[in-house]
Amino acid sequence: MKKKLIFSLTFFLLFAFITSTYSFAHEMYFTGSGSTVSTIKLRWIPKNSSTGRLKVLIDKQSLSGSWSTYYEDARSAWHSSAAPAEFVTVTTGTSPNTYMVTASQQYWDTMYPDGTFTETLGVTELYDTNSYVINSYASASASTKQLKGANIYLNPSPNSASAFTYRFTMTHEMGHILALGHSHLAQYSPANTSTDPSIMSYDYFSLGKSYLPQNHEVNDVKTMYGY
Ligand SMILES: [Zn+2]
Repeated sequence: MKKKLIFSLTFFLLFAFITSTYSFAHEMYFTGSGSTVSTIKLRWIPKNSSTGRLKVLIDKQSLSGSWSTYYEDARSAWHSSAAPAEFVTVTTGTSPNTYMVTASQQYWDTMYPDGTFTETLGVTELYDTNSYVINSYASASASTKQLKGANIYLNPSPNSASAFTYRFTMTHEMGHILALGHSHLAQYSPANTSTDPSIMSYDYFSLGKSYLPQNHEVNDVKTMYGY
């Protein structure tokens, strides 16, 4: 009897630990309100078989303008972090799993018109192992939940055309590729911009401090993928 009680206590503690670990990571798609939030755990599948790290193979041929100029900075920013992920630019002969595109002005204005105070800088579109596009909680729910690739579309003429805007947007969208969601959202106990900076947070972007992946997203990637 005593032994059984100890076992159930251990089980309870383990469950609590798992729950708190997952509430730390910011999943891309969720539903619910208040303290009841259901998340969908999408996961990126391609890996480097020798290093074991997540592997993103990027075709950047359709990047133009400043996005093309700052692409390499964003890529090396992720590589300088401790995140177990590689962002590799593919050359002829290797199939990409991700495309980065500077959108045409007409496409952007139609798809993502500016709001009164805001504009869309970049959009990441994910697709699963059945090649279904995942762009909502519903499509994520209906998917394999295993990500095979991504497309990133970038605003051809941002209102704030600073190097910081380009670099931050790119490292942020690269985070989305790995299935990281927005860390400023109230549903997820948002990252505190001063004590827990995060490039997946709009609030942190508005401070203009750093475009480098922070411990927040490095830990999220490690937790989500079991590294
Ligand atoms: Zn975002």
